[in-house]
Amino acid sequence: MSAIAENVAFLRERIERAAAAAGRAPGSVAFVAATKMNGADNVRAAIAAGVDACGENRVQELLEKYEQSAYTGAPLHFIGGLQKNKVKYLVGKVELIQSVDSRELALTIAKKAQQLGITQNVLIEVNIGREEAKSGVDPDAADELIAELSGLEGIRVKGLMAIPPNIELDPKNSVYFEKMRNLYVDMRTKKYDNVNVEILSMGMSGDFETAIACGSNMVRIGSAIFGPRIYR
Ligand SMILES: *Cc1c(COP(=O)(O)O)cnc(C)c1O
Repeated sequence: MSAIAENVAFLRERIERAAAAAGRAPGSVAFVAATKMNGADNVRAAIAAGVDACGENRVQELLEKYEQSAYTGAPLHFIGGLQKNKVKYLVGKVELIQSVDSRELALTIAKKAQQLGITQNVLIEVNIGREEAKSGVDPDAADELIAELSGLEGIRVKGLMAIPPNIELDPKNSVYFEKMRNLYVDMRTKKYDNVNVEILSMGMSGDFETAIACGSNMVRIGSAIFGPRIYR
């Protein structure tokens, strides 16, 4: 077994154990491989090992690997910061854009999807730690944005995504996960037209078990599958 296959299998076990400990059904937490900075071969190995989806951060990198058919066999998500002028490359190619952080971006996505005659699924990214350097809408603004997008053709909000403050910097990370859970439960109890809030995407290599304990049903894991990324 390759290292990637071993890691995916072990991570899947940990995900299922965390889900069970939280009283949740087997298979109820989606395992997204965060594939940034990994080549097509690594992506294919992760898919073969059974991850539920691949998530990319950069449009250019996604397009290159897409051309190499790296994602065959798994849904593709976009999870990184997205500029409006790059939206046209993603809509229709990716199953889920997890990182919608403004009304303008959402409107651009909707417009492109309308042109293609499709509906693009998205998550609203929430800046739950209200960090200056992070993208995402303010937690207090998520409700209004979802309500506004609910009537719009071409886009469907499926839930919320967050990257909380780094666990190494803040040992009380579960505080932010709990805040996200509360926000998510809040959104679910509201009835928006045309919106079914069902995804809560949070948890990465260092904290996915905590995130699952706090209600996450989609984790995005990179370095624990592929090893540390070497930034040059
Ligand atoms: C890289 C990345 C991840 C995965 O991070 P790891 O710590 O490597 O697991 C998850 N979500 C987003 C948005 C990322 O950019």
